[in-house]
Formats: sequence, C-alpha cells, structure tokens
Amino acid sequence: MFKTIGVIGAGQMGHGIAHVSALAGAKVRLLDISQDALSIALEKIKESMDKQARRGLIDAAEIAPALALIQTGTDYGMLSDCEMVIESATENEEVKREILKSATAAMSDQAYLATNTSSISITRLAAITDRPDRFCGCHFMNPVPSVPLVELVRGLATKDETFEKFKSYAEALGKTVAVSEDFPGFIVNRILLPMINEAIYTLYEGVGSVTAIDTAMKLGTRHPLGPLELADFIGLDTCFAILSVLHADLADAKYRPCPLLVKYVEAGWLGVKTGRGFYDYAEDIPRPTR
Ligand code: NAD
Repeated sequence: MFKTIGVIGAGQMGHGIAHVSALAGAKVRLLDISQDALSIALEKIKESMDKQARRGLIDAAEIAPALALIQTGTDYGMLSDCEMVIESATENEEVKREILKSATAAMSDQAYLATNTSSISITRLAAITDRPDRFCGCHFMNPVPSVPLVELVRGLATKDETFEKFKSYAEALGKTVAVSEDFPGFIVNRILLPMINEAIYTLYEGVGSVTAIDTAMKLGTRHPLGPLELADFIGLDTCFAILSVLHADLADAKYRPCPLLVKYVEAGWLGVKTGRGFYDYAEDIPRPTR
C-alpha cells in the first residue's frame, strides 16, 4: 500500500479515490484546478463516509481520522512527497498531457504514476512522461467506495514491479482487480459504452421513451440501472469523450457517438453533475426529460 498518494482531479472519481485511500490509511494530497471543486469534494467525501457509517459498512470513529489525512490544494508542489500520483481529471487527452507534465516535474523521481482514464491509450500517456516504466492504468469504477472493481492496464513499457505495486494498492482498498490489455476503452467501457450509445440511438429514433428504455433494460435484462440513468450518472461529457476515443482509435463507425448525445453535451446537459441530462434532478425523484 502506498503511504502518501496524490490525486489530481477532485470530481466524482477523484474524490472517490481520495475517500477510499484515506480510509485505508494513506495520506492523500487532492489537487484540482478549481478551488470550488475541492470544497465540494470534501463535502461529498464526508457525506459519503457518513452514509457508509449509517449502513454499518465502516465505523463512525474511522471518519474523522480519515478526513484528517486528506489535504487539498491547487499547487503541484504538494505532490513532492507522494509515493504515487493518480491523475483523474476530465477525460481529455490534451488536459491529461498537461497535467502529467506538471505532475512529473513536481514529483520525486522514484514515485509511481497512474491514470484513471476510461479509454485513452496508457502507452501513449506514459510515453510523454519521464517514467513510462513506472506508469500504469488504474481504472476505478463509479462510485468508487461501493463498486468493487479496479481495471489495471499495463502500458507497453510498464514494469512488472509497477504493476504489482498497483495491484497491492487496489487490493489494500478491498478491490478486485481485472487485467485489461491496453486497447481503447479497455474491457468495461469497450462493452458498456456501445450499449449506452445504442440506448441513446433508441431514444433518438423514437423506439422508446426514457422511461420505457430504462424500464425495459432494468426489468428485462436485470440491470440495476437503466442505460440512460447510468449515462447521466457517468456524465454525458465523459460518455461522449469515451465514445470519441473508441471511434477515433478503433476507426470503426459502430462507435460513432449518437447525435442526440452530442447535442446534450453541447447544451451543457451533462447528467447528475449539472442537474439535467436524460433526467431532470431538480426534485427528489428524477423526472425523465423525453
Ligand atoms: P468530473 O467531471 O466529475 O471531474 C473532473 C475534475 O477534473 C473536475 O473537478 C475538474 O475541475 C478537474 N480538472 C479539469 N482540468 C484540470 C486540470 N488541468 N488540473 C486539475 N484538475 C482538473 O469527471 P470524473 O467523472 O471524475 O472523471 C475523471 C476521470 O475518471 C476521467 O478520466 C474519466 O474518464 C474517469 N472515469 C470516470 C468514470 C465515471 O463514471 N464518471 C468512471 C471511471 C473513470
């Protein structure tokens, strides 16, 4: 287990990684470009730990010490004593490249580096750093505290020792590891995103309403969430970004993002995180928008 961890990007995934790492006893440096995102992240981590305690999943006495392990900030200098840094910012290759450059300039030469990207080539991201052998794909699932899987992805240059370090880290967090080769979308999103995209096409072509599509998939195929609910939960910008990587990197028209998804992203209707997507989240019970 890494003792001091840097997490870059304090959105829903970054704060989830900070949450589980701190509960496992690591000191966490949570960094974001936005001070607001950091304040919201701390609130959400506390809320989510309280919920875990109410459900008996953790002891309430663990919360204060875990929160005390999390330091937030916007300055890369805070990564200087980290044994490992994981990048979990917006799913955009240019953004990630800039972050990785700034992070490696601030980190110790011995430190390990990972990305939580959902789809982008680990080999390509590793190659722009000064430590491709110490770089690994470490793909957590959403929400991080409750979904028990981590996909680990070796880049071409990732050393076995690096892979083993990340495997031990994931296991220390109580996660099960699935190993994926470094292909766009890895395993989970190579399978999941085409299904979500098809659900959006089904809505776009008028085959069914939001309620009909989600009900059909929940009751008919025993999925815990309908694909449109799930898309809202992942974030429609992230869904679009992943599909764009699948489309470009696999060069296959079957991954073309549905024009309706493109429109929603252009409108800023990104799902739960902006209060509107395929559902409207203004009330306690989300209301379908189509
Ligand atoms: P999000 O939109 O909730 O959060 C992204 C965060 O990155 C924001 O707080 C933003 O301020 C920050 N950010 C943007 N540019 C930055 C920069 N230059 N420096 C520092 N911080 C910056 O996104 P998310 O859902 O948390 O996704 C983050 C990563 O995790 C993405 O790579 C995504 O593909 C991956 N992921 C997402 C899910 C999911 O279900 N949403 C699941 C697994 C992996």
